[in-house]
Amino acid sequence: MHVEPTDRFRVIIRMMSSNKPKQLLDRLLKLQLLESDEAALDETAENQIQKQIAEVRLQIPLPMLNHYDRLVARGKKGVAAVRHQTCTGCHVQVTRAMVMNLMHGDDIQVCENCGRYLYLSETDASASPKKRKPGIENLPHAA
Ligand SMILES: [Zn+2]
Repeated sequence: MHVEPTDRFRVIIRMMSSNKPKQLLDRLLKLQLLESDEAALDETAENQIQKQIAEVRLQIPLPMLNHYDRLVARGKKGVAAVRHQTCTGCHVQVTRAMVMNLMHGDDIQVCENCGRYLYLSETDASASPKKRKPGIENLPHAA
């Protein structure tokens, strides 16, 4: 199966956008949600949705949007959650480094197997080993 050259792709996104990767992913997710709801609505509501879709699309860098559209054109979802370190789009395990990156939210992650954009599911996000109880570092030091 052909997989996009994701590294080059990430660099393009970084160059093109001053937005935080997390915000961009949120927009992609919103777009996916809007586009999946579209079919079930009457005409007036559909026009509203179309307007929202157009607005969200304007806020997403073109390379990212193109990649998303290619996935959708193949009948896939463009964005998939990572649950238990596994891509819910193709059920293949993702690397630990990818999960860490998702936790930090400072990079766009694409599944190496299916090419979907990845975001961390609630369960995995709250299981972050990075979270520590605050206050330990604030203990007074003996002078
Ligand atoms: Zn996948």
